[in-house]
Amino acid sequence: MVRDTSLYDALGVSPDADDDAMKRAYRKLAMKWHPDKNGHSKEAEDKFKEIGAAYEVLNDPQKRQIYDQYGKEGLEQGGAGGPGGGMSAEDLFSQFFGGGGGGGGFGGMFGGGMRDTGPKKARTIHHVHKVSLEDIYRGKVSKLALQKSVICPKCEGRGGKEGAVKTCAGCNGAGMKTMMRQMGPMIQRFQTVCPDCNGEGETIREKDKCKQCNGKKTTIERKVLHVHVDKGVQSGTKLDFRGEGDQMPGVEPGDVQFEIEQKPHPRFQRKGDDLFYQAKIDLLTALAGGAIYVEHLDDRWLTVEIMPGEVIAPGEVKVIRGQGMPSFRHHDFGNLYIQFEVQFPDRISGPPDAEGFPTSMTQQQVKALESVLPPRSPQNIPPPDAMTEDYSLEKVDPMQEGNRARGALGEDDDDEMHPGGERVQCASQ
Ligand SMILES: [Zn+2]
Ligand SMILES: [Zn+2]
Repeated sequence: MVRDTSLYDALGVSPDADDDAMKRAYRKLAMKWHPDKNGHSKEAEDKFKEIGAAYEVLNDPQKRQIYDQYGKEGLEQGGAGGPGGGMSAEDLFSQFFGGGGGGGGFGGMFGGGMRDTGPKKARTIHHVHKVSLEDIYRGKVSKLALQKSVICPKCEGRGGKEGAVKTCAGCNGAGMKTMMRQMGPMIQRFQTVCPDCNGEGETIREKDKCKQCNGKKTTIERKVLHVHVDKGVQSGTKLDFRGEGDQMPGVEPGDVQFEIEQKPHPRFQRKGDDLFYQAKIDLLTALAGGAIYVEHLDDRWLTVEIMPGEVIAPGEVKVIRGQGMPSFRHHDFGNLYIQFEVQFPDRISGPPDAEGFPTSMTQQQVKALESVLPPRSPQNIPPPDAMTEDYSLEKVDPMQEGNRARGALGEDDDDEMHPGGERVQCASQ
């Protein structure tokens, strides 16, 4: 369900329009309202910007999804560059139509097809930002420092004194050269990096080189970015910082992208907005009630009361509503699911005898249990004329059983992979 349709309205399409329909609508409207065609009237300029901003969002599947779900507000909080936050309408327009760029020159645009070649751009720097579940629960701003190339401020990216940088004569500025090589009777032509300029396409005398960047045109700078880890953000969310990446002469600065990765948590597992917690309780608590205490992610401790007779079965899952994670950009919370592991006692003893040794359960104790627990369920009782034999149970020691199995077969240990029990059965068949 789409909350806010204003961006779709701007393009005059319905919220279920596909990419092609959107592209067509944008193309038509952008041409109609281009400021060059409307004498740069205020109305046309606003309209043109509005169309560009709408298309920039709706053309990006990730942004479109955020917008559909949370409206414009969602995009503004996203740090992902809301409508109009990234490219200017004019840049988008020229990227879309592959036009001259910037100046809004209309020449040749109408006949041309759509091209996706934007201005050249430096690479995007990707970073994985690991965040604790506590920080995602509360939300925080991480200050992250990165090293990036910036245009050398001293030479303004020229690499040396003005006029000192010359186009390489060896390659005419191409950086590559065609060379020839005699290979027996044949002459082989091959392309190689120009040795005169090391592929730079230009040369500069050593003494004219910029002292700050040593002729490299860029220097390394440390930059601190503030990464907003919003409450409830999901692992894998990508946050873009447009133009905060590397700078190089003649190309658009690159972007920096942070991917949020949630660190595993010792107490909680997270699934979407829900939290899962494993609680160990003893049998007495499971049957006769008691309390468990859950340390939450914001220093609170939840006291969870188990009522006498409520009975928690081993493995049972219960829920505390609204105590999960805050849901991203909403004002509610997921649930906290608690799975119980019930620890049974090794044995139940009666009161100690005269020497202080434990005895078996007394008749009274058994009666007390029988009085509160459901009656024993009927077993498969043998018919009256069946032959019956009496047995009692012994504890099983896995180590001992294994040794017995090996002993019975009179073998050495080379077959340890097989569980002992199986071997015994095989041997007796
Ligand atoms: Zn320099
Ligand atoms: Zn060269």
